[in-house]
Amino acid sequence: MRIDLHTHSSVSDGTDDPAALLAAARAAGLDVVALTDHDTTAGWAAAEEHRPAGLTVVPGMELSCRWFPLDQPPVSVHLLGYLFDPLHPAFAAERARLRDERLSRAERIVQALAADGYPVSWPELVEHAGGGVVGRPHVARALVRAGVVAGVEQAFAGLLHHRSPYYVSKADTDVRQGIALVRAAGGVPVFAHGLATKRGRVVGDEAIAAMAAAGLLGLEVDHPDHTAKQRAHLRGLAADLDLVVTGSSDHHGTNKQTPLGACTTDPEQFERLVAAGTGAAPWRD
Ligand code: AMP
Ligand code: FE
Ligand code: FE
Ligand code: ZN
Repeated sequence: MRIDLHTHSSVSDGTDDPAALLAAARAAGLDVVALTDHDTTAGWAAAEEHRPAGLTVVPGMELSCRWFPLDQPPVSVHLLGYLFDPLHPAFAAERARLRDERLSRAERIVQALAADGYPVSWPELVEHAGGGVVGRPHVARALVRAGVVAGVEQAFAGLLHHRSPYYVSKADTDVRQGIALVRAAGGVPVFAHGLATKRGRVVGDEAIAAMAAAGLLGLEVDHPDHTAKQRAHLRGLAADLDLVVTGSSDHHGTNKQTPLGACTTDPEQFERLVAAGTGAAPWRD
């Protein structure tokens, strides 16, 4: 059994539409794949409709959140949610707020770049996003089209880096509220790539314990951005806090190098996760 519980389609910042993503997952030899676009469930209908035979598909999403340390600025954290009711009103409203937040923030980044002479335009970016939830990868691709950078990675290393003067933060959900919303909608909240220092500041063990106390059910341990040491540390925390351990690729199509199935989840852990989800069921044969 090969199980990959974190992937993005063109409904957010991946490059394959949901049908193509699932076909690629099957071709890559996966048995189970979760669709976890940023702050949206807009890909669920197409994923259910175009699910290849033999592939189990787990409906999910990745919520943009923040942890508020007592003595430091907020830390950006990502919360995976699985098997929740997409129509739960408060949760649906929070996802909509985050999508609006993303739009206004990306527009500010693009306008600041344009004001300094970079040949990027907001209407051009919106057209290329094709209705997908906008993120910095869309700005990166606009910079590639404009010939400013050679590739997405180069854009993230410079102009779009979280320390760049063009970086704009967004008012993401307090992660404890995010956990509460996923649970209220019958879903399973899992802390995504929690120690991936290459993405910026990360939280300490006390934050993860507080999230567990707030209802967190799992930790994404095996992730391409985690070192062996970080994985071992998270595995220990998951054991101490009795959390499900997941592994995933965080595939984004050609926006990132990571192939589908780059990291995977143990079948027993997957069964624990499915048993905890009551707001939706996996789509399977
Ligand atoms: P945002 O959510 O708009 O702040 O953008 C974060 C997204 O950018 C992540 O979900 C990744 O898809 C992408 N990303 C972050 N760092 C990199 C990188 N170094 N190379 C390519 N994509 C990245
Ligand atoms: Fe992303
Ligand atoms: Fe993420
Ligand atoms: Zn992701």
